[in-house]
Amino acid sequence: MPQTKVLVTGAGGFIGHHLCRYLATRGYWVRGVDIKRPEFERSDAHEFELLDLRRADNCARAVRGVDQVYSLAANMGGIGFIETHRAEITRDNTMIDLHMLDAACSAGVPDFLYTSSACVYPGYLQKSADVQPLREEDAYPADAEDGYGWQKLYTERMCRHYREDFGLRTRVVRFHNIFGPLGTYDGGREKSPAAICRKVALAQDGDEIEIWGDGNQTRSYCYIEDCIEGLHRLMKSDVYEPLNLGQDRLISVNQLVSLCSEIGGKRLRRRYDLTKPQGVRGRNSDNSRLRAVLGWEPATSLEDGLAQTYRWIEQQVSLRQASQQLAAGE
Ligand code: NAD
Repeated sequence: MPQTKVLVTGAGGFIGHHLCRYLATRGYWVRGVDIKRPEFERSDAHEFELLDLRRADNCARAVRGVDQVYSLAANMGGIGFIETHRAEITRDNTMIDLHMLDAACSAGVPDFLYTSSACVYPGYLQKSADVQPLREEDAYPADAEDGYGWQKLYTERMCRHYREDFGLRTRVVRFHNIFGPLGTYDGGREKSPAAICRKVALAQDGDEIEIWGDGNQTRSYCYIEDCIEGLHRLMKSDVYEPLNLGQDRLISVNQLVSLCSEIGGKRLRRRYDLTKPQGVRGRNSDNSRLRAVLGWEPATSLEDGLAQTYRWIEQQVSLRQASQQLAAGE
């Protein structure tokens, strides 16, 4: 059988980088595309091209000769970033998604997987920390996050239209807080698990760390290896309706901080900054459809995933401190 050729966009980013490795080790030929190279290690893609996918001609170049597209490229970050960069995010991601869908369709690529987000779910269903898990059909009537979320929801619909009208086999996944090693952990785009791991890693026993909000906001967190396996399973399936991909264990940010402090072996005091954005009050994934259609769901425990992530961030933080000391001649 000829080798399947795959394009991963956003291959210089967190999930895309892990996905390239996973697919390359499973016998796929992989082209990675991004506007930047992976930050922490070399890509395992067979070919890696630096392209700005906001441009239609670059999207046409990216899809040449491939059988499948995993469309992950996006201008995004944690809640602090997405709430303060709405114009930039909606502009960039609209251009990327429109041109990628159209390029794949024009080139006759059979299979396309789009990475959407739990940010498409309505604010009115996420007002309580003790939230009902979100089912895929809950996305409507729509009241998505006002920028990043609406753009994802619109592209989900475009995926459906391209499938129904033009025959491009589009699949749509809605991620719920993916975390793990090799993800952004500082600089303003990082998400809560990475930010908390960094704060704990930098603190000394007995120090105080800052928490955004009152810490009682709740989320579920999915480990990167489960995320990648889910993506691959979805691409192999004939599931075309949007599908949650996340864990369904709800925990508060305070509980996440406790877990992380335990892993780091530190007792820390907490200072709550209520002026910082905290997003919706509660959010959890309902995995009923995931289990029913893929016969599978994420299995890595939060404790195991967080321990791997913490160890990696702790190592990065120490390496950086050592090189800063060296540069300062200490
Ligand atoms: P990431 O920021 O690490 O990766 C996204 C990549 O897209 C980056 O490397 C970035 O350089 C690239 N990109 C941005 N603009 C580009 C452009 N104009 N041309 C080419 N590449 C460009 O994010 P991630 O966590 O790996 O997320 C991957 C996808 O999953 C994104 O579409 C994101 O919206 C979605 N998602 C992620 C999460 C999560 O928890 N990580 C949650 C919901 C949805």
